Amino acid sequence: MVRQIHFLISVFVLSIVIPLFALEKQSMPDHLSNSTVLILLGPPGSGKGTQAKRLAVDYQIPQISTGDLFREHMASGTDIGNQAKKYIESGSLVPDEIVLSMLFDRIEKPDCKNGYLLDGFPRTEVQAEQLSKHKSMNTSVLVLCLDVPDEEIIKRAEARLVCRQCGAIYNRLISPPKDNGVCAKCGGEVYRRTDDDPEVVKKRLTVYRTLTQPLIEYYHSRGLLEHFDGSRLPDAVHHDLRQSIDQRSNRQ
Ligand code: AMP
Repeated sequence: MVRQIHFLISVFVLSIVIPLFALEKQSMPDHLSNSTVLILLGPPGSGKGTQAKRLAVDYQIPQISTGDLFREHMASGTDIGNQAKKYIESGSLVPDEIVLSMLFDRIEKPDCKNGYLLDGFPRTEVQAEQLSKHKSMNTSVLVLCLDVPDEEIIKRAEARLVCRQCGAIYNRLISPPKDNGVCAKCGGEVYRRTDDDPEVVKKRLTVYRTLTQPLIEYYHSRGLLEHFDGSRLPDAVHHDLRQSIDQRSNRQ
């Protein structure tokens, strides 16, 4: 009789404790199973920056945007900024040597030790090859490709506004900054990027199709790429990206 009571108590306690453990696991901060490198690929204006910012917070890894790094260099008037300016303003790519040395300096910093997220890099096959040879790349790589049709890209670029200070992204029509011209996150100046001018966007799209799109096949053939419909609302895209990253992480 006593043993039966013990047994029933054990079953009762376990039926409470096991779901509690499961609940705690669900509410634990997200993490990547090892130092994963996430790469966001997609045409200009496909939402890479918006999604990268959210994923960087979710997984507590640095978001590294080569476009943001160049804009910071230009604002501070460094050599890199001065060299990059003419390419950026005309919608061309900055030469590989300049991008690679700037990027490698950044990913060698200690905060990248447990993984990082690349937004806007690589953009050429040379960059992809050089990245694959970097010492941090003996870890796992997942390439998340955002697909958005050209007409939608042009519409988005016309409406995009960016904070000069923290890089927060706004949409003039859907999510304008509440205080006109002032970033709600940091108080910085919100402005329209000169390379979001429709003619420059068309050039950037052509450059993307010619030099960057081949990377889809490059990563697909290595089994590292997943496609996402980037023309949906940011929350829906974010949900699917999270699901994919978590699934990949659990498989490792
Ligand atoms: P983004 O903010 O990613 O749209 O980048 C803005 C501009 O910076 C691009 O149009 C290019 O001129 C330059 N840029 C950014 N990343 C790269 C890269 N990986 N390779 C070459 N140029 C880049």
